[in-house]
Amino acid sequence: MRLVLVGPPGAGKGTQAEFIAENFGIPKISTGDIFRHNVSTGTDLGRLAKKYMDAGDLVPDEVTNAMVRDRLAQPDAKEGFLLDGFPRNVAQADELNGILDELGAPLSVVLDLDVDFDEVVKRLSGRRTCKQCGHVWHMEFDPPKAPGICDKCGGELFQRDDDKPETVRHRLEVYHEQTEPLIGFYREAGKLVAIDAFGAVEDVTERAISALTPYAD
Ligand code: AMP
Repeated sequence: MRLVLVGPPGAGKGTQAEFIAENFGIPKISTGDIFRHNVSTGTDLGRLAKKYMDAGDLVPDEVTNAMVRDRLAQPDAKEGFLLDGFPRNVAQADELNGILDELGAPLSVVLDLDVDFDEVVKRLSGRRTCKQCGHVWHMEFDPPKAPGICDKCGGELFQRDDDKPETVRHRLEVYHEQTEPLIGFYREAGKLVAIDAFGAVEDVTERAISALTPYAD
């Protein structure tokens, strides 16, 4: 299955992406994770991406597209993949169509995680990430036992710069202006399946898997 996940920041894309990818046995390719990895290892790409990420803006298309092109050419993506966080605008979606045409491997389906605006703000601003293992906790919905400390590894928790309230608002504007048009784009292409992403993580995963199962080979 070649799958794209769309939905606003805070819809739970990263969390659902992990469960969905595992269920269908495909690699999860998250452009946000790849950028963050480059930031933390101090590469040139990381230095370039960081200033856009901290501001809640999109990294320029030519940089992001080249990175995705390379990643999709890796052997583990041959039998399918889940893209989380890409495409983020119509130009990236056109580029993805071009890459997949060249590979002779069209997209199977696009899953839209539908959540309302207020819910998204609550979800994002309560997120705390572990400095050591990267696990994401939520102060209200999934708090660790001791505040500020990761249950899994004892690492210190922090708030991503891009989860701070001003940046959250800006990321939502960017989503509305640039990414939301993809929903119409993929609906017209007959690729879109939407699910309600409100509620407990396991319930949303179950909805996602049953919506996607018809598209699995
Ligand atoms: P995410 O973890 O998907 O919310 O991504 C975090 C940040 O990485 C975004 O706010 C952007 O700055 C950058 N980013 C991730 N994916 C893309 C993309 N497809 N195009 C441009 N920037 C991206």
